[in-house]
Amino acid sequence: MPPSPGRAIIFSAPSGSGKTTLVHHLLSSNTNLSFSVSATTRSKRRKEMHGSDYYFFTPPEFRQKLQEDAFIEWEEVYPDCYYGTLKSEIDEIWANGKNVIFDVDVKGGINLKKYFGDRALAVFVRPPSLAVLEERLKARNTETPESLQKRISKAEYELKFEDLFDVTVVNDDLTQAKQEVQKLYANFIDQQ
Ligand code: ADP
Ligand code: 5GP
Repeated sequence: MPPSPGRAIIFSAPSGSGKTTLVHHLLSSNTNLSFSVSATTRSKRRKEMHGSDYYFFTPPEFRQKLQEDAFIEWEEVYPDCYYGTLKSEIDEIWANGKNVIFDVDVKGGINLKKYFGDRALAVFVRPPSLAVLEERLKARNTETPESLQKRISKAEYELKFEDLFDVTVVNDDLTQAKQEVQKLYANFIDQQ
């Protein structure tokens, strides 16, 4: 781990719970936070940008990074869709004197917490129910019927791992959830 004093806040949740929304909220109100841009082999959605949402790699490019031992953690989050956290990304953020914020799936969150230990606060974002989660994914309009089903079955499995996180935020009322994550972040940074 690099010898700088940076901290990490990890947001994990089943897809559709609202973690990206909450992460963006924290980024917009805390200038000392910087987003960890992950690498992925999934195709780019409309409006996404290489280098700010993800590093969009081809499978051979991703495999090359694996060979170079370039990842802190990586995973096949969905069949044939690889995602990973690049060591170089975190080194750069900490070298710039910022704290890093992650938006990763549940397994990735658990692995990052293990890696960073007390330097990280691991937050599990829970939807009020699976039915609400499904509605949010449909309303987001980013999924095919097939990928929607994949995300929902994975969500049922991921909800079992909540207890491995430092804290849970139930994302029901968005305004309240935003206030809650801001308090959590501020307290975590104050403690250090
Ligand atoms: P995730 O990153 O966990 O997949 P998103 O942040 O993309 O989830 O949220 C999924 C969808 O639900 C988005 O369209 C988002 O605008 C919406 N959303 C997020 N939080 C809430 C909330 N508390 N109430 C209603 N809709 C929400
Ligand atoms: P999406 O395709 O919706 O952007 O992301 C799918 C899932 O992959 C989300 O749960 C997202 O948080 C997760 N994810 C994004 N980047 C990483 C990463 O670097 N590592 C892991 N393990 N999961 C990631």
